[in-house]
Amino acid sequence: MKKYEMYDLKKASYIKIGCKAKNFIEVYNEDDLKEAVSMNNPKILGGMSNVLFAGDSYENTFISLQGEFKEIERISDTDVRAGAGVMLSSLLSFLAENGLSGLEELSGIPGSLGGMLFMNAGANGVSISDLLVSFDTLENKNLKKDECVFSYRHSSIKEPVEFVTLRLKKDSKENIKNKMSDIINKRKMTQPYDTLSLGCVFKNPAFEIPAWKLIDSVGMRSKCVNDVCVSEKHSNFIINKGDGKASDFLSLSEEIVKLVWENYNVKLEYEIEILF
Ligand SMILES: Cc1cc2nc3c(=O)[nH]c(=O)nc-3n(C[C@H](O)[C@H](O)[C@H](O)COP(=O)(O)OP(=O)(O)OC[C@H]3O[C@@H](n4cnc5c(N)ncnc54)[C@H](O)[C@@H]3O)c2cc1C
Repeated sequence: MKKYEMYDLKKASYIKIGCKAKNFIEVYNEDDLKEAVSMNNPKILGGMSNVLFAGDSYENTFISLQGEFKEIERISDTDVRAGAGVMLSSLLSFLAENGLSGLEELSGIPGSLGGMLFMNAGANGVSISDLLVSFDTLENKNLKKDECVFSYRHSSIKEPVEFVTLRLKKDSKENIKNKMSDIINKRKMTQPYDTLSLGCVFKNPAFEIPAWKLIDSVGMRSKCVNDVCVSEKHSNFIINKGDGKASDFLSLSEEIVKLVWENYNVKLEYEIEILF
């Protein structure tokens, strides 16, 4: 276990917004994790690509999975077991090298396996839970997929996920790699891919107009508060142009919520998690 007393969440977060954390702990195995969750108000973090650190300071104990939670193992012809701290990019490289297909549609999501399962991340009609066989949490081992509820960008998971087993299909390395680069290229064309962001800020409402279209139609595309702007490329992305603050982000996102409500009577729901 490695403890940090003034950990820079701004530097670590994907959008580069945040304060210093008083308690940030890297855990390397289950004993470490058990000890960490017994500390003050524990909060597990992965790639920090879906959380906005909006507090001025935190009393939480932030936990980052390292060591054995970063390992990937092929356990059968089609199944892979990986630690929840594994980043999707590493998992995808492993799958391509092993000729295992199924997760390519999610290429380009900058999350960890634990963070992705927690919010049932997905893209292009595929969600991580579609490939799920079972997972271990700190309290419960070998939970089968149907022991948990997964829906659009949501799961019923309440505890730290430690390991995840996914079932893939066999394909050639070349096909898999080509598919991954096609998906990344598509992202680059339609999203501010190389910019600081948290991905889509709002969930798509449960009717046919997607969130980006609603945001666009209330005139918020490209609108900025200081260095934080609604992306010109994809209006459900809010980007940090350099010196963005959480307060700028929230002014902009709350303005979007207000205008969409006033114009469409639709209450946009955050896809990102805001930590105050
Ligand atoms: C450029 C960009 C593109 C994106 N595209 C997509 C997309 O196409 N589809 C999509 O779904 N998302 C997308 N996202 C959002 C984000 O990458 C995903 O939500 C991802 O699943 C978050 O994973 P993370 O590890 O970064 O989680 P974090 O942001 O670190 O944490 C998110 C939540 O997961 C919880 N969590 C993290 N690890 C664990 C664990 N081991 N056990 C239990 N809970 C845990 C945290 O406590 C927190 O509540 C995008 C983000 C960016 C920046």
